[in-house]
Amino acid sequence: MFVLLRGLRRDRRAAGLRRPAGGAGALQLRHVDAGSCNACEHELQATANPFHDLARFGLSITASPRHADVLLVTGPVTTRMAVALERAYEAMSEPRRVAALGDCAIGCGLLSSSADVIGRLEDVLPVDVRIPGCPPDPATIARHLLPLVSRSAG
Ligand code: SF4
Repeated sequence: MFVLLRGLRRDRRAAGLRRPAGGAGALQLRHVDAGSCNACEHELQATANPFHDLARFGLSITASPRHADVLLVTGPVTTRMAVALERAYEAMSEPRRVAALGDCAIGCGLLSSSADVIGRLEDVLPVDVRIPGCPPDPATIARHLLPLVSRSAG
């Protein structure tokens, strides 16, 4: 394993590539699906594919809210996910930010009027970033989140 990593580092230096983002200055995102139709998740996954590869600019998904800088929420807030959402937010350390990904999380989406929906994300948590679209494409997601990477580095 270490031999492989050393080999990759040597190849990267030989090719003149920059060190990959992911250390200081990287933005860790904790994603919570509060009740989406999963199309927003498909677009979010596409940000990590080899074509978009937003990790090279410092955006990465973390499994734990304790390691997260941003709580990234998709879908309207449903009754079943409201408590989990608040717990994830409480587990994050300051400075913490919340991003609403997609029209449903912002409060104007197709699923907003369902019987199991409590309301907009900002009815439950303070929202710092709103990423519009149904669903927002990877370029739109990048446009709204990448400015936070440079702010977290400063
Ligand atoms: S914004 Fe559109 S794609 Fe995203 S959860 Fe709502 S209906 Fe689905």
